[in-house]
Amino acid sequence: MKTSYDLIVAGAGPAGLTAAKVAAESGLSVALIERKQNVAEILRMCGMMIVTLSGKYMGERVVHNPVAKLLSFPHHGFSLHYDGPTKDFFAWHIYSPGGERIAFGDYAANSGRGTEGRASAVYDKSRFLAGLLEECQRLGVAVFTGENVIDVRKKGEGVEVQCASGKHFNGVFVIAADGRNSRIARVMGMNKQRGFYGSVTSIGYEMTNLNLPEPYALHMPLVQSGDPPMLGFIVPRAWQHEGEDTWLVMITNVDPTTDHESLFDLFTQKSRFAPWFKNGRKIRKCGCAGVMYSPIIHPFKDNVLFAGDSGWCQEAEMTGAVMSGWKAGTAVVYAMLEGIRTENGVGSYLDWWRRYHIEKLDYNVFLRNLYMPILCKDEEIDYIFSMIKETLPTVLDPYEVPEAMGKAMIKVIPNIQKERPELLNKLTGFSSLPPEVVLRKTIRAGFSCTFTT
Ligand SMILES: Cc1cc2nc3c(=O)[nH]c(=O)nc-3n(C[C@H](O)[C@H](O)[C@H](O)COP(=O)(O)OP(=O)(O)OC[C@H]3O[C@@H](n4cnc5c(N)ncnc54)[C@H](O)[C@@H]3O)c2cc1C
Repeated sequence: MKTSYDLIVAGAGPAGLTAAKVAAESGLSVALIERKQNVAEILRMCGMMIVTLSGKYMGERVVHNPVAKLLSFPHHGFSLHYDGPTKDFFAWHIYSPGGERIAFGDYAANSGRGTEGRASAVYDKSRFLAGLLEECQRLGVAVFTGENVIDVRKKGEGVEVQCASGKHFNGVFVIAADGRNSRIARVMGMNKQRGFYGSVTSIGYEMTNLNLPEPYALHMPLVQSGDPPMLGFIVPRAWQHEGEDTWLVMITNVDPTTDHESLFDLFTQKSRFAPWFKNGRKIRKCGCAGVMYSPIIHPFKDNVLFAGDSGWCQEAEMTGAVMSGWKAGTAVVYAMLEGIRTENGVGSYLDWWRRYHIEKLDYNVFLRNLYMPILCKDEEIDYIFSMIKETLPTVLDPYEVPEAMGKAMIKVIPNIQKERPELLNKLTGFSSLPPEVVLRKTIRAGFSCTFTT
C-alpha cells in the first residue's frame, strides 16, 4: 500500500473533501482519511441551511445554480457540484419562553415573493458530501474510510499520520479537517492557547406532521432560561419522508450531564410550544456534542494546516468550511509547485484565515447569542421580546443577529427605562460582559480537550 503523499487530509467533511478535491485537481498525490465507514452518512446532527443565499457570510455571497447543479462562491472564485434537493425558507423566528416572538424577516411578505424573498434554502448534506467524494475519487484521491487518526507528528521534512488501526501515512503537508472536537488540534497542543467556553450538547428527531405557525421558517424558541438554559430549534428538511414535509426538531443545552431526552419531551410535550408537536411523528433520532473554543489564531504548526471547524469558534458552517478547505488546498498546491515546503509556502492560507475569519468574525459576538437566557429570567425575556415589535432584517449569519438585536433594543430602551429600569443593567451586560464571566457555569460543566499526548 502506498503510504507517502504530497498531501494528507484528515477528515472527510465539507472542509476536508474540498481541500482534497482542489489539491488533486492540480495533480498532487492526496490521501483522504476518514473515521466513518460511509463518508456521506450524516451521523452528527446538522441544520443543513445554506449560510447564506440572501446575504453575505465572511464576505462571500453564495449562489445555488440548480440548472448547472452548482453551489458557487463567486468572490472566492470556485464552485462545487450539488445535484440534491433544496427547499427555500423565509424567516428566522426567535421566541421567548412565554411565546413572544422576534422576527428576522417578514414571513408572509418574503414567502409571497418565492425564491426572491427567501432567507436561504436547506440542502441535503449527505448528497453534497457524496458528490464531493465522487469527484475526489474520479481525480485519484486515495480514500481510506473507517480509519481513526490518533496522532500527527513532524517527521523529517514532512508529517507522519498515525491511525488507530496501526496504519501510518507520510505527507509533505497535512490538512487537519477533523471537525469541531478536533483530535489533531488537541494532540498538537493547539487548544492550549484557546479560550474554552463550555460544551454544547443536543438531541433531536427528524419529524413529520408538525403544526407550525409558519412551516418554512427557522424557529428558535428559548424554552427556558436559567443555568443551564434550553434552546429549541426547528428547521425544514430539503426532502420529504413518505410524501410528507419533514423537519429537524432539536434541543440544545450547555450542561452535558442533563437528561436530554427528558428535555426534549419537556419542549415538545409540556412547554408553551407543545401544540406544534401534538400530532408529530418521529422518523430518526440524531444528536451531537461539541466544545466551544475561541478560534485558533494561527492555523499552522509543523506543516499541518487547520481547516473548517477544527480551528473555529463552534462552527464554520458548511460554507465557511468549504471556503477554508478550498483556500488550504490551494495554498498547498502553490507550496508544492514553488518547492517551498514550509510555512512560507502556505502563507496565502494563513493570510486568508486572518483576514476572512479572525478579523471578520468576532467570536465574542457569536458567544453573545447565549447571553440572554443566562442573564435574564423567563418573565424578563418575555417582556424584552414583547417590546421589539418591528420586523428585523432577514439575516441568517449568526454573527449578524446580536448586532440586529442590539439596534432594535436601543430604540426601545427609553420605554424600558420608564417601565422596568432594573432591567437596564442586564441589557448593558449583553455588550459589556466578557464570555468568561457570563459563561462561567457553562465552562465548569463542559469537557475541554486541552491535554496533549
Ligand atoms: C446542531 C448543528 C446544526 C448545524 N446546522 C448547520 C446549518 O444549518 N448550516 C451549516 O452550514 N452548518 C451547520 N452546522 C455546522 C456544520 O455542520 C459544520 O460547520 C461543518 O460540517 C464543518 O465542516 P468540517 O468539514 O470542518 O467538519 P465536519 O463536518 O465535522 O467533518 C469532520 C470530519 O472529520 C471526521 N473525523 C473526526 N475525527 C477524525 C479522526 N480522528 N480521524 C479521521 N476522521 C475524523 C468526521 O467523521 C467528519 O467526517 C451545524 C452544526 C451543528 C452541530
